Amino acid sequence: MGLALAMGASSCSTGNSLYRGNRPNRSSRHLPRINISPDRIIKETVGLRPYRLSGPRLDVQQLGQKTIIHNYGHGGSGFSLSWGTGHIAATNAAASGESQIAIMGCGVIGLTTARQLQEKGKQVTIYAKELWPRITSSLATGTWSPAHLVCEPDRITPEFKSTWEKTCLFSFQAYQNLLGLGDMVTWIDHYIIGDRVHKETPALQIKGLLPDPVELSKKQHPFRASYVINQPSMMFNIPVYLQKLTNDFLNFGGKIVIREFKSLEEVDALPEKCVVNCIGLGARSLFNDEELMPISGQLSFLIPQAEIKYRLSTPHGYIIPRKDGLVLGGNAIRNNWDTNPDPKQTEIMMAAVNEVISQMRS
Ligand SMILES: Cc1cc2nc3c(=O)[nH]c(=O)nc-3n(C[C@H](O)[C@H](O)[C@H](O)COP(=O)(O)OP(=O)(O)OC[C@H]3O[C@@H](n4cnc5c(N)ncnc54)[C@H](O)[C@@H]3O)c2cc1C
Repeated sequence: MGLALAMGASSCSTGNSLYRGNRPNRSSRHLPRINISPDRIIKETVGLRPYRLSGPRLDVQQLGQKTIIHNYGHGGSGFSLSWGTGHIAATNAAASGESQIAIMGCGVIGLTTARQLQEKGKQVTIYAKELWPRITSSLATGTWSPAHLVCEPDRITPEFKSTWEKTCLFSFQAYQNLLGLGDMVTWIDHYIIGDRVHKETPALQIKGLLPDPVELSKKQHPFRASYVINQPSMMFNIPVYLQKLTNDFLNFGGKIVIREFKSLEEVDALPEKCVVNCIGLGARSLFNDEELMPISGQLSFLIPQAEIKYRLSTPHGYIIPRKDGLVLGGNAIRNNWDTNPDPKQTEIMMAAVNEVISQMRS
């Protein structure tokens, strides 16, 4: 992010206040049990997080006849930061004065940028090699995780932090505006077992954004673990959310063209003079960005259980109830391009969650 992300960020404004309430200490001693076993797996996926060592790239570049606005490299925080970095990219693209804007890439980053450009009255065409469900954005867990695998901890400068905070706040507010539209964006109780909470990048936190984490006493939870945290969090129902973004884009006159860019000359040949680059990991070869690498994440989808309305995280695996399945995940393998599910990874994550569930008091 660095210098690049600072551009235009000062115009981010949430317009609303953050969560400030005092959360009552509720007792949830009885929770329905999650049914987790290999024979309940209905699908497995491996997605490649577009991780960039110094965080998302958002600078503006002059390339031949084109003004290129970058917006890629969001690692494990792309859904969470998308509206905020999209706001910066859309502001920079609007500053070009062009009325027709090209966007490369139709993942969550391209779509949220496109919608914000449409709101500024621009005619937008998205050019993309692939669409849902064959893109990284379709393979995400879908939780509010704005600091997860977003950059190397030693690259967090005060400038980076300030811009991250602005994009995070902007996105957070955008998601609050989507609450109530079915179950696209919802709030959910999150139980964190063990020490996972301390492993998130502590330098990137906004006090008061989420309700504070509360350490529960043994009487307040059904788990046998000695350390249990409760913190409500936000989650996104990925298929329906990506569908809504795409439908909104098309309904507001947007066009989608299937096209793969293999060289910068092909980008230069586009009819639009201003191009927003939202191709995620694709920027590694097209823009020769060696800071970019995949961090793979494997998910197993289990048969949904309508009664499960909480999320559970352990140090080596988590489970999240989505409409399209109970999502088991929790791994992150750096520089791994292999998108074949690995049964060993499933075993590790399932064993971690099962250890907690099997010891739950009934
Ligand atoms: C397992 C997993 C779990 C995750 N969980 C979360 C989470 O809970 N919360 C969260 O905030 N984030 C999460 N993420 C991260 C998030 O999914 C990504 O940061 C985000 O999807 C990146 O979106 P994108 O639009 O940049 O990339 P993509 O979704 O990959 O979209 C890129 C687009 O560019 C196109 N493209 C690429 N190269 C070219 C080319 N050469 N020419 C033309 N088009 C091209 C593609 O076809 C595609 O349309 C998770 C990721 C994974 C893998």
